[in-house]
Amino acid sequence: MRYGGKVYQGKHTAMVTQKEFDQVQELIKRKNAPRPEVTNEPDTFPYRGLIKCGECGCLITYTRKVRHYKNGTDQAFEYCYCTRRRKDYLCTQRITITPQELTKKIRAELEKYAIIDDFFQWACKYLERFDADAVATQQKDIRYADKSHRIHRKRA
Ligand SMILES: [Zn+2]
Repeated sequence: MRYGGKVYQGKHTAMVTQKEFDQVQELIKRKNAPRPEVTNEPDTFPYRGLIKCGECGCLITYTRKVRHYKNGTDQAFEYCYCTRRRKDYLCTQRITITPQELTKKIRAELEKYAIIDDFFQWACKYLERFDADAVATQQKDIRYADKSHRIHRKRA
């Protein structure tokens, strides 16, 4: 799909509003900001409670370990992985990835799914020319999707 000289992928299941997109961008910015000191503080994971395993649906968690070397330097290791908490399903995802890798993957996903408000308005107007009913239905669906998304988030 082409709009304003840019190509947008026509994915339809996940919808991200401009506001949500901005929030995630803010999280990414915060995550990329340099942290001067190495700490054992466990709650520096910006995606806590937000990301689930694609295989079993359990939350992705984060661990930060600091290794102290004899020469006096410290090195932090960060891991993100599936909590594998489901009792009725044995998840095979045993790999870990760093938060930096996770951020890259999220960014790549967002580029696929983000729908810019201006584009949405333009698409609605365009559709209106063909079928006013179709637009009304679509807007209803979007409101519904938005609502269920919020409920889903609350539970997470
Ligand atoms: Zn899993």
